[in-house]
Amino acid sequence: MALRFQISANLLSWPNSCACCGGNADTKLHASASRTTGKRVRHTTTSSWKVPYCSQCVRHEEAYESASIWLVASFVLGLIAWFFVAKASSGSVGFFVGMVVALLGFWPCSKAQKQARSLMLSSCCSPTSAVQYIEWHGTFHTFVFASKSYLESFLAANSRKKRSEIQQL
Ligand SMILES: [Zn+2]
Ligand SMILES: [Zn+2]
Repeated sequence: MALRFQISANLLSWPNSCACCGGNADTKLHASASRTTGKRVRHTTTSSWKVPYCSQCVRHEEAYESASIWLVASFVLGLIAWFFVAKASSGSVGFFVGMVVALLGFWPCSKAQKQARSLMLSSCCSPTSAVQYIEWHGTFHTFVFASKSYLESFLAANSRKKRSEIQQL
């Protein structure tokens, strides 16, 4: 489930339960968004919120995120293989070998993702971030929440702030 909405505030109250499984939160994870402004001189600003999590959920979240490193690594290795094989034999053989090497990364990646999923509790709502901070304009912040019950307690804690309708993605 993914629930998207905007809320206007300078300060938000985060209910002190895990945003993923709803259990007792004993730690926090940063949900951050970046934006780039300017055409000639680019300024990237990042803004973030500290979202309460339990340490078990931090573990599966980090394991799941790091799984995609395999895809990046195999892509880079594939490019290197393409370059050297193409030099040694022909361009099309190099391209083929490079593609095979790049695709090999999917196997350890999905294995690592499966491992991350095995760390999830039955009440967990998402293997990756349960709260995603998408963007902001002025005091308006856009979030995507994975947990409906956490969203409900979040809205109750911020009931006096202006917000948009909740959109299910
Ligand atoms: Zn949790
Ligand atoms: Zn979880």
